[in-house]
Amino acid sequence: MMTSQKPPSQLPGLLGKLGKLTAIRDLELLEQSLLKTLGPLLGVLDTALYRTDETLNVDRVLFHHRSKTLDMDGVARMVESIEEATNLQDLPPEVIALTDNVRLLGKPCTRKCGDELIVAYPLLGGEDICGYFVFQRDREVSPVEDMTIRGVLEVFSNYYALLDISQRDRLTGLLNRQALENSFDRIWNALSQPVFSSIKQGRRTKPSRNYWLAVIDIDHFKTVNDSFGHIVGDEVLLLVSRLLGQAFRTSDLLYRYGGEEFIAIIAADDERLAAQVFERVRKMIEERSFPRIDKLTISVGYARADPNILPQEVLGRADRSLYEAKNQGRNRVCQYEDLIRRGIFEEATYGDAELF
Ligand code: GH3
Ligand code: MG
Ligand code: MG
Repeated sequence: MMTSQKPPSQLPGLLGKLGKLTAIRDLELLEQSLLKTLGPLLGVLDTALYRTDETLNVDRVLFHHRSKTLDMDGVARMVESIEEATNLQDLPPEVIALTDNVRLLGKPCTRKCGDELIVAYPLLGGEDICGYFVFQRDREVSPVEDMTIRGVLEVFSNYYALLDISQRDRLTGLLNRQALENSFDRIWNALSQPVFSSIKQGRRTKPSRNYWLAVIDIDHFKTVNDSFGHIVGDEVLLLVSRLLGQAFRTSDLLYRYGGEEFIAIIAADDERLAAQVFERVRKMIEERSFPRIDKLTISVGYARADPNILPQEVLGRADRSLYEAKNQGRNRVCQYEDLIRRGIFEEATYGDAELF
């Protein structure tokens, strides 16, 4: 006879939340959603996701905070906020020590902190640890809660890996066009936000920085394929993508937008600095000796990533500037605002903006 085992009372709510989690098609939103799901399930206000790089060092932390506020008519409301740590030196040392234990033991660990406990669970990507789920609470995790956390983290990891594959280009491992298009709106929102210099302490904010979007296209790449074959062509593409990845900072964004075309979104305080960055990249490729083909060049078109202008329009401006660079003889960098100033491009009134 079957024993009627009652499911834990949390189950219907949990399944609904997992449904929401897996409906998300965006990696960063998925991470935020994980914290939004687990915090209320565990009855904690603060949760954090520590992500590690290939060398297992923490390279990114997402904090989710909930607090109760009373609105004007005295009704209590939960307010949520998400912050990403930009200054990893400020991370609490006791949490880093705890995540070290989790990594060494390969299982969840807890540590006393005053009257409370800090709890850290490993996040697995395949066989390896790729991060930690961390929260603080006044009591131990119950066996049912333990099962819930493990289950949710497993669903998250599997789904994250699937999404990650679909957003990455298979040859170079860079984010692909789909990934850029999925996150355009969120990137644009982030561009206008002030920069947090420290998440945990002080919350000093600096004014927003200037950002630039560049389309980078390899010159005469078709002749590489035609003369040396597709396999050599693929190798060159891979090498160029690695070189570009090294040339930009880790906080910059780099995508393989299409065949031999890349998009970079970088922060640089002023026009002069942005010009220096892209000129340095152009020169680095020009000066490099590539196996078999020896010399290769790139052309770059870029425009200011003005948060008040639609991202598609900024992309269009960068693309038109790239074509100008090609027209002028390739192996050069053209900036949209500069081409306008020099009268080579006409200033588009906003009504004429090409929206595609
Ligand atoms: P331009 O200087 O005007 O950019 O000339 P181009 O030859 O680079 O440009 P075109 O757009 O005519 O050709 C791009 C070539 O890139 C065509 C295609 O064969 C090649 N290509 C695109 N994707 C891949 C890829 O994944 N692997 C290889 N090997 N070649 C690719
Ligand atoms: Mg090309
Ligand atoms: Mg091209």
